[in-house]
Amino acid sequence: MMIIMSMEATPEQVAFVNQRVIDLGFTPHPITGEERSVIAVVGNNPIELQDQFAILPGVDRIMPISRPYKLASREVQPENTVFPLNGFNIGGEQIVIMAGPCSVESRQQLLETAQAVKEAGGQVLRGGAFKPRSSPYTFQGMGEKGLEILAEARDLYHMPIVTEVIAPDQVELVARYADVLQIGTRNMQNYPLLHAAGESQHPVLLKRGMSSTLDELLMSAEYILSHGNQRVILCERGIRTFETATRNTTDINAIPVLKALTHLPVVLDPSHSTGHWEYVTAVCRAAIAAGADGLIVEVHMHPELALSDGKQSLKPETFAEMVRQVRTIAHAINRE
Ligand code: PEP
Ligand code: MN
Repeated sequence: MMIIMSMEATPEQVAFVNQRVIDLGFTPHPITGEERSVIAVVGNNPIELQDQFAILPGVDRIMPISRPYKLASREVQPENTVFPLNGFNIGGEQIVIMAGPCSVESRQQLLETAQAVKEAGGQVLRGGAFKPRSSPYTFQGMGEKGLEILAEARDLYHMPIVTEVIAPDQVELVARYADVLQIGTRNMQNYPLLHAAGESQHPVLLKRGMSSTLDELLMSAEYILSHGNQRVILCERGIRTFETATRNTTDINAIPVLKALTHLPVVLDPSHSTGHWEYVTAVCRAAIAAGADGLIVEVHMHPELALSDGKQSLKPETFAEMVRQVRTIAHAINRE
């Protein structure tokens, strides 16, 4: 439920209501950006409880939250969630481009790619150090050494880093290096990992499960938000369909649907959603036209030598051209 305080409610009355929520064993979630105080209380709020709050001094009314996800829904927070990442905002007017290799493979590879991404206009550097690979016989990532290389690139090029965490007990380690924790498609419903990422209070890029509905994606986001961690970015990365011409099917619908259902920033990953570099630029244009807040794109200096996902990686020149095209689309819809 949402406890809507009246415009005239005093700070003492708001504090009293907050304390009542806590005394009854719930966590109050204050909602920002309103001209009056609104407190969301999630969990099982039976009707009698709603009545008890409705008559407290300073309370205007109680509104139930109809969606199964609560803190993620636009009902609870009509305004977009916008948060800063190293000097720019995600979720606001500005389109954020995250790019880099699928995997960190060596110091030289990552530093060269970081420089190319930066020069082409990318703002966030991606690169996996812990890789969730379909086969146990393929490259599994450099682990902590990969994180150290990412941190070096961040310091050199002043770019925040997004990198994947695949296990709950790794969250602390990865959060020491990463600016944004990536939770991959295979882990969207790894609930211990979602809890740990929530508890970390670190920004999270949550990818949609390849066979998950948007409601399921939002329920997974709710796990993170329920720990008071509000910095969650949702990522559409393609879903399984009957189509085999591409690795996955880009669900462009997901962008306007998510933007309607939630206040969280939404980005698109055209590399995994198409699986082929040739289609990446077109899908980037489509994503921005559809209202995405950003892109996460795989870039490799030598895709033919990549240890993972070379086929879908852009070379730096192609990436730079994609950024130019996306800039034109962004301006056409009044975004930066
Ligand atoms: C990746 O970003 O390299 C990755 C493994 O993505 P996904 O989880 O979407 O497959
Ligand atoms: Mn990849």
